[in-house]
Amino acid sequence: DNAENRPVIRQLDDAAINRIAAGEVVERPASAVKELVENAIDAGATRIDVSHADGGKTLIRVADNGCGIAPDDLPLALSRHATSKIDGSDLLDIHTFGFRGEALPSLGAVGRLSITSRASGFEAATIRVSGGEMGPVKPAALSEGTVVELRDLFFATPARLKFMRTDRAEAQAIGDVIKRLAMAEPHVGFTLRDVSGGGEGRVTFRADAQTGDLFDALHGRLGQILGREFTENALAIDATREGLRLTGYAALPTYSRGAAVAQFLFVNGRPVKDKLLTGALRAAYFDFLSRDRHPAAALFITCDPQLVDVNVHPAKSEVRFRDPGLARGLIVSGLRHALAEAGHRASTTVAG
Ligand code: ADP
Ligand code: MG
Repeated sequence: DNAENRPVIRQLDDAAINRIAAGEVVERPASAVKELVENAIDAGATRIDVSHADGGKTLIRVADNGCGIAPDDLPLALSRHATSKIDGSDLLDIHTFGFRGEALPSLGAVGRLSITSRASGFEAATIRVSGGEMGPVKPAALSEGTVVELRDLFFATPARLKFMRTDRAEAQAIGDVIKRLAMAEPHVGFTLRDVSGGGEGRVTFRADAQTGDLFDALHGRLGQILGREFTENALAIDATREGLRLTGYAALPTYSRGAAVAQFLFVNGRPVKDKLLTGALRAAYFDFLSRDRHPAAALFITCDPQLVDVNVHPAKSEVRFRDPGLARGLIVSGLRHALAEAGHRASTTVAG
């Protein structure tokens, strides 16, 4: 009789489910920063201040001046699959960074999370959740927006804790996340502060809110992030093909780099890491660069949300185009055209 060995099927509780989901959503401190800053952007913030200590392992704090959360909604914000951003009827019609309602419950399951928020017309309130245990909503003091604090990330999942890299490497990854999101949102002001050891800490990145149309604002923002040398050597790109638009700035081949460190790609405003798109970027410069050089560019593809699926992975950094060939073709032809024209202008200037 094998009855004793027969496996029993059990329904997992929410805390366990959230810890499992956290494994996909929150790989490291920088992924927590990404989720929290995206929430601030979705809330319409124009100022976002991020602090971290010890590479984000002991503390991540994101403060914004966005729309805030009403006191009664705080427990809901921490519940699984609860979101204010979609109603679930059309997963191909997404205009916000978030939509899965997973980030906050996941972070609350693997760390100690507190949210303090003030929505207009309400008093400020705060709520805590630690290792999946949610506390009550309490009154708080805050003049506007939302402050989310995440302490002791992965204390509830020691296995994941072991995979953390050095404070320096984690801090660097946080900086990269902030820079990408800052490129995506030039009209928002960002600061990043390292508060390791307590106190005011030191500002490691600052990008003041840019004004003007998207090209002007992006130009200013890229100057803040990549430096004047990039913007002085960059071509404005604006090309369209069958409903897909490519905009942004691409550097002249003379500004190329020894590694692919200055390639920033965005799809409908979302920073993505996508082999198809980086491959297309490489292909576009193929005739203009030697094999060991890499192009530098910040490029934005915008299209009807129906033409691209962002719901490929919980971290949402991969996308799937309905017509991948179209996206590739747009990048290759749009950039080649701009580069050839710049080359032509340069040679006629020299000749004249
Ligand atoms: P999602 O972003 O996918 O909706 P989250 O778990 O990240 O899921 O957030 C849950 C909900 O909490 C959001 O839909 C939003 O209503 C609210 N929220 C989270 N962060 C903020 C913020 N900084 N400002 C205002 N509302 C927020
Ligand atoms: Mg979110």
